[in-house]
Amino acid sequence: MAKCPLCGKPLDWAELIGQMLVLENAEEIFRERERFMETFEGFVFKCPHCGEEFYGKNLPRKEAEKVFALLKEFKGSIDWENRKVRLRLNSLLALDTMLEQWDRKVKG
Ligand SMILES: [Zn+2]
Repeated sequence: MAKCPLCGKPLDWAELIGQMLVLENAEEIFRERERFMETFEGFVFKCPHCGEEFYGKNLPRKEAEKVFALLKEFKGSIDWENRKVRLRLNSLLALDTMLEQWDRKVKG
């Protein structure tokens, strides 16, 4: 799971993505995977625990890609009027990881 690169506390993906939603052209950015990843990596996030700022590229890329896929998959995942993420991304990511491990176990 994503952690703050400065204080090491766990971060909530829904909260992180919420920080990106203030971008004026966010709706466009969230439509295209390449564009999203590029914006994500260069975006300056603020840690809600220690208040320090860091770039998105300091966060796990694989998780960011999954987050994007989840946001795409679920209709209404983003409340554009209130600029808020409706999905509980951390729970979904945890579930996804669990299923992957299960899958490996079954096949292995
Ligand atoms: Zn921090």
